[in-house]
Parts: sequence; structure tokens; C-alpha cells
Amino acid sequence: MRTQQPPASPPSDPAPADHRRLGRELRLFATDPLVGAGLPLWLPDGAVIRAEIERLAAEEAVRGGCQRVYTPVLAKRELYERSGHWAKFADDMFPPMKVGEEEFLLRPANCPHHALVYASEQRSFRDLPVRLAELGAMFRSELSGVLGGLSRVRQINLDDAHVFCAPEQVRGEIALALESVLRCYRLLGIDITRFRLSRRGGGDGFLGGDGLWAEAERQLGAALADLGIGYSGAEGEAAFYGPKIDVQVTDPAGREETLSTVQLDFNQPERFGLRYVGSDGGRHQPVMIHRGVLSAMERLVAHLVELYDGAFPPWLSPVQVLVLPVADQNAEPARHVACQVRAAGLRADCDPADATLGARIRRARGRRIPYVAVIGDREAADIQRAEDDGRVALRLRDGRQLGGVPVARLISEISRQVTDRSAGLGFDA
Ligand SMILES: [Zn+2]
Repeated sequence: MRTQQPPASPPSDPAPADHRRLGRELRLFATDPLVGAGLPLWLPDGAVIRAEIERLAAEEAVRGGCQRVYTPVLAKRELYERSGHWAKFADDMFPPMKVGEEEFLLRPANCPHHALVYASEQRSFRDLPVRLAELGAMFRSELSGVLGGLSRVRQINLDDAHVFCAPEQVRGEIALALESVLRCYRLLGIDITRFRLSRRGGGDGFLGGDGLWAEAERQLGAALADLGIGYSGAEGEAAFYGPKIDVQVTDPAGREETLSTVQLDFNQPERFGLRYVGSDGGRHQPVMIHRGVLSAMERLVAHLVELYDGAFPPWLSPVQVLVLPVADQNAEPARHVACQVRAAGLRADCDPADATLGARIRRARGRRIPYVAVIGDREAADIQRAEDDGRVALRLRDGRQLGGVPVARLISEISRQVTDRSAGLGFDA
């Protein structure tokens, strides 16, 4: 599939795109001191983008054989003592909330909850792999000073899945996860800088014995090799429970960051006593794979805002079609076109004639709206006469201007872009 190159920054603005500035200008998200730093409010236009990403995540999870679960964002302290998070991460967690004799914590990760979903029934080798997916919220008690925009936040909404499988299924499951990453990045137009195999190295604070780590690191390397993916190693960058594959991307300012991760874990299944009945009738311990394909919604959306400099492909654009009546007398036909576009499941808005047409077109350009449909007297007469088969004068974000475009064609072209999630604007001759 063709992917759109991020547009060059306009000449008046040589600085690389910054999602905090664009987030304000495009009204994608806001913060309020009453809520607190690192706790962004997703405004309606930002919420559209996130909802589209969440929809992609849900589709991809189904395609990857996952079952959806919902689990609570808090649990008793004992859960995170059992998982090892409390010993390792207590300083990064919000302090316990005492309710009667019990203490609750906002969760630092979704994994322990999914381990307990696995443990909620007896499993046989025939049930494996069990793949559980949730777009779940987890929490970090970051200090206010280090927080900014969407890149450092206190609530992280993660596209998360945990696969419980037999040891001989690990390679195939890792390959499945990596294929999912590659497919999603193609759709999103994100270039992968490199794959990184993050190992334990000589550091301490990691759970589990040498043998388990060596085997886990070997399996991840083998899965990458199976897919012909080159990678570099990073010592000491592993998760505390196991090694991982990090998918590294670079932002427009040249900073590298991790988006997706695939992690291999022999330790959590041990700590939670997870078992399945094998073909030999004996009880065996499954392997746990942490699969974060689309990463945190905050981190991914920040990356996409900067990658596209706010000019999102049509399927992600908060407003896909802006309808502009040239003058007040064209308002009713303009509203009618916007209604038709919305009835087809697309996102349309109407910008009334409160300013000159030129000023409103510039405003639409500032909002990076992909399609602007202009309704003058000629189009209005046509729409009123033909009802369902009117025509509009169309301006595309890339500068093209097309006269006399039937509304039905407008809808079918944009619907195709949105269904394909292809990044182009369509309307090719
Ligand atoms: Zn996990």
C-alpha cells in the first residue's frame, strides 16, 4: 500500500513539528491545572484520532487471534507484590489508597490482571495459545516538572495483549506479533528506524535465573531471524521480567523512541503459578508474551501529529469534509451536503459565511482539512434541483481544485480512502 510522505514544513516555520504546539493550534488536547500536569484532556478532534487508532487496534487484535477483556485499573497491593511490580516500581506508582483494612493501588501495568484472567479457568494444551487483549489504562506517579504534552503522562492508555502459550509456540507467536506491527506501521505511514533486542546485560533488579534469560533472548533473536529482520542489541534495557524486542522510530527532531514492544516472560507465569494440562496429562507452565502493537495512545498520537505536521490522512482527519457556503443564501444547500456526507458515515462540518470565502478557506487550510466543498449560487441551484445528486466545487488540501464534483462521487472517493486507510487524497484523474 502506498504511504504518504509527511509534508514538508511550510517555509515560514522551519522548526520541526512539535505535537504540543500543534495539539494546541489544532485543538486536539488540553491540560488544566485543576486536573494536573501529565493528565491531558482529549478534546473532540483529538478524540476522533484516538478513536480511529483504537478501532484499528481492536481490528488488529481480532485478526491476531486475540479475545478482548476488560480489567480494573486498580487492585489490592498484594497483586503487585505477587507480580514483582511493587518491589521494583513502588517509587513510580501512586501511593496506596486505604479502604477499611485493604490497600489499593492504581495499576502500573495490565499484565498481572491478564495473568489472573488466564488463571480464572483450567487450561489444556488444546486451548493454547490464549491471547488476551485490552486497551487498558496504567499509571505512573511522575513529578510535575518532567511532564509535557502527550509524551510524558501519568495515565498511559496502552494497546496491550498478553499471549499465554506452550514453549514450542513462542517463535510463531512472536512472528505473529511482529507481522502485526509491520502491517500497522505500513497503514500509519510510520518508518521503523530499527528493531532493538533489549537484553538483561549485567544489571541487577531482574527476576529469574540465567538459564531462563538466555533461552528467552535466544527465542526472540530466532523469531527476528525467521522474518529476516535485522536488529541491534541493547544491554540492560530489558523489562524486569524478561527480554524484549523494541520497535524504534525517530521523531522529526531526530530523537529516537520506542513505540511497539514484544516481550518474552517466563517469570510472571511462575509467580502466578499459571499452568495448563499438557498432552501427557501433566501440569506445565505456559510462557507469557507481552504484545504492545500500537503502543500507548498518547505516544502514538504524539508521533503521528509530528509525522504528518497535523495534516492527517483522511481516515484519521477529525473533519474530513468542510462545507463552505459562499454567502448566507447558500447556507441551506451547504447544510444539506454536510448531512449527506455524514449520513454516509464520514465526518463533515459546515463553516457558515461569517467571514469572506478566502478567509474561511485559509482557516480550513490552517486546520489541515483534506477536502473543502464550496457551495456558491450555481452549486446551490443544482443541489436544490437535484436533491441527492448535486455538485460541489472541491478544494483538496494538496492544492488541487475540481469543479462540478457530484456529491455522490465526493462520498464514494472519500469512503474508499477511509476504508483502505490509505494516505492519499484520491480524486486522481
Ligand atoms: Zn504486559
